[in-house]
Amino acid sequence: MSEMINYGIDLGTTNSLISKFNAGKVEVFKNPRGHKEGLPSVVGFRQDKILVGDKAREYSNKDPKNVISRFKRKMGTTETYRIDTINSSKSPEELSSLVLKELKGFIHSGETIDSAVITIPASFDTIQSNATKEAGNLAGFDNVILLQEPIAASLSYANKDNSNELKNSQWIVYDLGGGTFDVALVKIIEGELTIVDHEGDNFFGGTDLDALIVEHIVVPQLESKGTFANLLNEMKSSTGRYEKEWYRFLNAAEDAKIELSSDKSTEIEYVLDDDNGNEVEGIITFTRSDFEKLIKDKVTETTQMLKKILTRQSIQPQDLKFVLMVGGSTFIPFIRQHVEEVMGIPINTDIDPTNAITVGAAFFAGSKKKETVTKKTIDNKSNIKVRAIYERNSQDSEEMFSAKIEGDIAGMTYRIISADGAFDSGSKELKTRIHEDLPLREGEYNLFEFNILNSLGNQVHHAQEQVQIAQGKYSVAGQMLPEDLCLVKDDLILKDTKLDCIFEQNAVLPSRASQTVEAGKTVLKDSEQDVIRVMVVEGSSDNHYLSNKPIGTLEISGANIKRDLLKGTEIDLTFELSESRDLTISAYLNGTGQEFSQVFNPKKREVSPQTLGTEIIMLEEMIHKEQEEAAENKNYNMEENLGKSLKDVQTLMLDAGEIPEDSVTDEKFQLEDKKRKLAQQVHQLTSSKRVDAAKQDYQELKGSVSKLIQENGNDHEKHQVRQVIGREQVFLMSNNPNTIEAATDELGSIQYKILMRMPNYLVHMFELLVESRVSMNDQIQAKNLIENGIHLIESESWDDLRIVIGRLWDLVPEKEREADGYRLFTGIV
Ligand code: ADP
Ligand code: MG
Repeated sequence: MSEMINYGIDLGTTNSLISKFNAGKVEVFKNPRGHKEGLPSVVGFRQDKILVGDKAREYSNKDPKNVISRFKRKMGTTETYRIDTINSSKSPEELSSLVLKELKGFIHSGETIDSAVITIPASFDTIQSNATKEAGNLAGFDNVILLQEPIAASLSYANKDNSNELKNSQWIVYDLGGGTFDVALVKIIEGELTIVDHEGDNFFGGTDLDALIVEHIVVPQLESKGTFANLLNEMKSSTGRYEKEWYRFLNAAEDAKIELSSDKSTEIEYVLDDDNGNEVEGIITFTRSDFEKLIKDKVTETTQMLKKILTRQSIQPQDLKFVLMVGGSTFIPFIRQHVEEVMGIPINTDIDPTNAITVGAAFFAGSKKKETVTKKTIDNKSNIKVRAIYERNSQDSEEMFSAKIEGDIAGMTYRIISADGAFDSGSKELKTRIHEDLPLREGEYNLFEFNILNSLGNQVHHAQEQVQIAQGKYSVAGQMLPEDLCLVKDDLILKDTKLDCIFEQNAVLPSRASQTVEAGKTVLKDSEQDVIRVMVVEGSSDNHYLSNKPIGTLEISGANIKRDLLKGTEIDLTFELSESRDLTISAYLNGTGQEFSQVFNPKKREVSPQTLGTEIIMLEEMIHKEQEEAAENKNYNMEENLGKSLKDVQTLMLDAGEIPEDSVTDEKFQLEDKKRKLAQQVHQLTSSKRVDAAKQDYQELKGSVSKLIQENGNDHEKHQVRQVIGREQVFLMSNNPNTIEAATDELGSIQYKILMRMPNYLVHMFELLVESRVSMNDQIQAKNLIENGIHLIESESWDDLRIVIGRLWDLVPEKEREADGYRLFTGIV
């Protein structure tokens, strides 16, 4: 069995494919049905059996309710599909696993396939990525590596014969498939491919173009021919009267759309009974130009994303080699023309847009070792351990191969022979270290056999028998993160929650980061209610955390710490993100010497039209408030921009209001996505306001800390304050409120440390807290703590008083914490 993964799978919204890397070439397996390469990603449930692929697609004409398609877009959500014939529900991950299992059936070699590279859109977030891995595991792949689709497409192109001319160049991948859109800037640096930047929409693809045809061409025509009340809703709702027709017309629209890629006009036939039971029948004819008008706006949105990348990266279209077109929807002539027109550089349609992704995935799989095999490098019989070191990708004409050998090698020999017989090292004595220069053929995958023979001349099996070096081929530098991953500096103490970037957008994975934070409150040993949460969200660190996607939370609870954790104690956090986006967080508590660690298991996303509605209303209110404030401050520009966002929010509200509670479409996820983007827009618009406030807070605090430190600070603290002030120019200029607030926090926590050493201040703080006692959350506990505190002041036990103050603080209701007297507490996280 090969030690490499070798199998590459494109698990598409519409079509899925499987291929294998073998001796430098990629074979795409044929679908036994129809002898084509793709398998429609469709699953049908008959009473007696499950149908996957073409058979399921055909069956959907008979029984559309029990046939499921386009489920990739619901990966990682809580949505399931109710299936009557089997009287149960299936999750998108289960449905995907059925497609994956069917793909395995394309291979007839009899080998067990336990590992695969599966591709995902570059814009898939962490939750969706994890869901894809889960689908792979359900289908029996123990080892699943994810690869982003634009990289896969680029690998497939770059590893074709013309690869030499691509050295150190860059291009754009424009991938419009059935359900998702990705546009990515890809660069080759030293033979390695990487995505430098990307944009995308997880909710836009060919299927949305089909829906436009049904909504704007088919439905109006039907309404003009028969009596229908609310036809579109009755089609889209799972209990709607015309639900079957929705799927039927979507399929018919897709066929018509495909026809328009080669013909100038097309037809859709219809026969159905209207609300009065009268049969309505006829043919709808429409032209390519009708279709182009219909999709123009959506297509323009895609090229706007493309331009955004160019602007952000300060590059001109002329700096790019070409725009590589992939995905079935790029067969549409209008899309090709439009992209070419906007960019003014050639588009590249040289690769088969439908199989490029799987081919690239296989190339990648051919360079990836299976995890399980690498652990078993000791051959039991020979008891020899071989560790080989060599470059698997080379741009040179020769590569050095070295190996370290452990075990009883007395009398053994080795020999390295190239697969084509052109190179033969000859038989040589085996030593604990060997080196051999291997000549490489240009632009090819060079294969060598590394044989070890014992003193009797018999072959000794070991783990490195095959050596493969790609010359002039391209590999992957690493995958990139589509959005920032941020730490929520939650803490009850702060008025607003702040985000700290842990991994930045476009960071190359795998990656590792660490950060030290201070415990925002005291956590007592054995107390189950006492919890510190380390929360990670996905999305820009400039956003309000509510407009980002929660990934997961590590909880440090009183129930599992060995000693009390005092407020202000340092916690060292380490974050590790694997290439396939598994996030591990570890927290080391300096006070207790304990370590907590957790691999993330992101929760699935849930969206109900109702909560979506409420959130949109909240967003609307927020914009109104900001608008009023802008008007008061005579900031007319901001007011106008907010007005634009308000309009978008109102349209969104109308759209959301029209979704039936039991909608069969994924519109609510699309709208939720839009809502998040709008919330971000508003947040960015108003952030200048935050910047000003942050600057003012910083200056004020700097004044008071400078005074305090002169009289009461120690040398270390003085040094710390000088350092913050020394960086002042940089963070004030950054105009990033988070950065400025972080500096203010630093000063705040130094101030807090000094003050907490000063008996006067402790007493003052204690008195303030005593004044708030009536509103405290737990009266009995408050009473006990206060009595205790009074004794401690009498006996001048300042250390213990500090703990009591911390405990009392935890009892202060959140809204009271903003009171002026407590401002000093806000300096600490
Ligand atoms: P996915 O990545 O979603 O599995 P593909 O890349 O296979 O999808 O593209 C499928 C989409 O391409 C479908 O929406 C299909 O209707 C569309 N498509 C395929 N061929 C054509 C064509 N000739 N003209 C227009 N659209 C096409
Ligand atoms: Mg695709």
